Amino acid sequence: MDVFTEAIGDEVKLIAVSKTKPNEAILEAYEHGHRAFGENRVQEMVDKYEALPKDIEWHMIGHVQSNKIKYFAPFVHLVHGMDKPKRFKELDKEAAKNNRVIDCLLQVHIAKEESKFGFDMAEAEAFLSQDIQTLFPNLRIRGLMGMATNTDDEAVVRGEFNGLKAFFDKMQQLSATHFDTLSMGMSGDYQIAVEEGSTMVRIGSAIFGAR
Ligand SMILES: *Cc1c(COP(=O)(O)O)cnc(C)c1O
Repeated sequence: MDVFTEAIGDEVKLIAVSKTKPNEAILEAYEHGHRAFGENRVQEMVDKYEALPKDIEWHMIGHVQSNKIKYFAPFVHLVHGMDKPKRFKELDKEAAKNNRVIDCLLQVHIAKEESKFGFDMAEAEAFLSQDIQTLFPNLRIRGLMGMATNTDDEAVVRGEFNGLKAFFDKMQQLSATHFDTLSMGMSGDYQIAVEEGSTMVRIGSAIFGAR
């Protein structure tokens, strides 16, 4: 992990994406002092949460399904993939049931691929222009998450991250003071993401090996 801290600096938070990897791999990183792990499947995250030390921060980085929210609402640290308005209502409700305020990120679609989830920027702006605090009293929208196009063309990736950072800065003006997180960058593109202003990177295969 230290090699990443060098590469991304102290200002950028590293989420070690442990999906499909066994508990032993997580514990090894844990013993080196790492605490933030990312998973994309709810059942797998719940199983790992139950088996592993309770001071681990669990990040839900995958697509969120309505009927699964209740399983991670009691313990999740940050939900990255909030990709449509009704998800916020659902997560707010589960947060209330658990007497928690849950942190989450609004996912913005920046890639060329059709398949990736998220708001487009106009939708995101309209959504964040509402009175969020009143609508979702049990949530804190901490910022934005985005995934760049999966391509070797660095200019495309840089342009997408740069655009998301500019949009993040603009949304920060309308939002509460805790709007401070821009989750962008994975194994293949985190250096570019950090150069373009990411505050949080989600790195799996470069840490744990290929899946
Ligand atoms: C799997 C995954 C990652 C990590 O991908 P790597 O290429 O292994 O670093 C990051 N973000 C999301 C949303 C993922 O699903």
